[in-house]
Amino acid sequence: MHNQAVLVVEDEENLLEALRYNLEREGYQVHTAQDGVTGLELARQVRPELVLLDVMLPRLDGMEVCRLLRRETDTPILMLTAKGEEIDRVVGLELGADDYVTKPFSMRELLARVRAMLRRSRKQGDGAAPPNRVLRAGDLELDVTGHTARLRNEVLDLKPREFELLALLMEHRGRAFTRDNILERLWGHDYIGDPRTVDVHIRWLREKIEPDPGHPSRIITIRGVGYRFEG
Ligand code: CA
Repeated sequence: MHNQAVLVVEDEENLLEALRYNLEREGYQVHTAQDGVTGLELARQVRPELVLLDVMLPRLDGMEVCRLLRRETDTPILMLTAKGEEIDRVVGLELGADDYVTKPFSMRELLARVRAMLRRSRKQGDGAAPPNRVLRAGDLELDVTGHTARLRNEVLDLKPREFELLALLMEHRGRAFTRDNILERLWGHDYIGDPRTVDVHIRWLREKIEPDPGHPSRIITIRGVGYRFEG
């Protein structure tokens, strides 16, 4: 009945395989990664319903993966911790993880946690109407549901594409988008366009939302990469 996607990021091969076996037997669609960078990439690609995340991982540790993921999504994250010190860090750092289990854990306990977390997140996402979504950054407010933007309580006149671009950047505050990323998301896969289209829209947006458009402090240019929303 579920077939929900679960991403497991764990570098210990035996544990990874045991988790895969048990989760698949429960009917979940399991994706796996053995290091933090691959885990993060997979999470963005697959958009799983739940992430099981080990703390000590090669390339990028689980804490950092958790922190980065949390900026982008509400996907429930269950941390797999090994030692007392790790637990303190996971709990203390307010990374946004939803729960944690301590190794060694029983498969039965882990599966119970997974079920509970998925049940909780389904309930939240099940409302009759989608909840109002308002993105805020200082005096800038974007009502995504109502499609209205305000700056210092004054309604901003944004064209639809500018609105979508700003919403995309604000929703993923701190995350860098390449021009191609943005083109693909806003104009669709089939759009054969000039990445400079993005620059033009960014310039228009800056005129409208930056205190000093010549020295942007909200939409930052990352040289050679693209753009990032800072606040
Ligand atoms: Ca590990």
